[in-house]
Amino acid sequence: MTLFNDLWDGLIHLAFPEECLGCNKQESRRSDFLCLDCLYHLPYTDHFNQPANAFERHFVGRVPIRAGAALFVYSYIIENLIHQFKYNEMTKIGKRFGQEIGQKIYGSSLFQKVDIIIPVPLHPAKFRKRGFNQSEILAAEIGDILNIPVESKILIRSKQTKTQTKQNRINRIENMNEAFGLEQGHLHQGQHVLLVDDVLTTGATLEACALKLREAGVENISMVTLAMGLS
Ligand SMILES: [Zn+2]
Repeated sequence: MTLFNDLWDGLIHLAFPEECLGCNKQESRRSDFLCLDCLYHLPYTDHFNQPANAFERHFVGRVPIRAGAALFVYSYIIENLIHQFKYNEMTKIGKRFGQEIGQKIYGSSLFQKVDIIIPVPLHPAKFRKRGFNQSEILAAEIGDILNIPVESKILIRSKQTKTQTKQNRINRIENMNEAFGLEQGHLHQGQHVLLVDDVLTTGATLEACALKLREAGVENISMVTLAMGLS
């Protein structure tokens, strides 16, 4: 059945070339939503099998984490894919890579025994505008692969955050700390929580979420994102 579907997809794509969601070129030789060229140039990291990797180093001295990983580093293709995922409702991109993250975690000795998955919440106004939370889509796929419950209602966004780029680090963190709230009573101290976000840039968002969890007594926190910047 899979072979038949693959053949059928191949025929459809030959007859009706579609735009590759990575490079936007018309391309008949595609795998799913990517042309073969983009597919072979996806900038995977080796974070899932590398202790003290670049993702984890991002949080040293800020908040202790057990494990951290991004599936990709930023590249033109990845930026384009994430943009399409978030703003053009290309949720199939998030679903596909969410599954890959789940598989990477499954095969990793660094992410052992996660009890609960929590996606970084979107502010309700943004959620209404976009219609979905991209981190929730990733989290759902990861939870599905690992058979771990996803809790989207525990961590809540309480305040619309202003554009962060012109603020210094301290202001950013204070601003971010007020941005999240926690529904108490659902978390236990010994639990290992996996936080999921779409991208790691400054790390302020994930840091604020982790600090909120720690305020509630949760000490075992891991993090995963679809992509992270190179710096
Ligand atoms: Zn392409």
